[in-house]
Amino acid sequence: MTAKDQEFASLEWLYQEIILDHFKRPRNMGTVDGADVSEEEDNPFCGDRIGVQLKIRNGVLEQVRFSGRGCAISQASASMMTEKVTGMTVQEALEFAEEFRKAMRGDKPFPQEGQWDDLDALRGVRDFPVRIKCATLAWDVLQRSLMKWLHQKS
Ligand code: ZN
Repeated sequence: MTAKDQEFASLEWLYQEIILDHFKRPRNMGTVDGADVSEEEDNPFCGDRIGVQLKIRNGVLEQVRFSGRGCAISQASASMMTEKVTGMTVQEALEFAEEFRKAMRGDKPFPQEGQWDDLDALRGVRDFPVRIKCATLAWDVLQRSLMKWLHQKS
């Protein structure tokens, strides 16, 4: 295999079908009417931008929507994030976001296949350090939104 072939093969692996599916048909994209909290953030290294809006009822994430632009990984991760955390309590979502960020950054092992649903497709991104921020961006924004909400409340 030439270097070019190798690069192509790894990119192909990086952009798995499931990532492209979320990128092309993002889940929960848009805004939440009367959102309780919203936050947004850029990833200047890649030009990604993600905004998150939340509706929280009785401490549970009732509605989670995102807006944004950027690479397939950043947008797919945001789409997957909305599906994963809807229905979680604020505390559960904060904990899961931290788990995910740690697993992506290699501070913790990535869980067995199948345990994280579609998010599993992002495990390959760890092999491309410059793209890790793309995958964690939506989760950083989610964490900031939840912290802001907790602050507003107290
Ligand atoms: Zn990106």
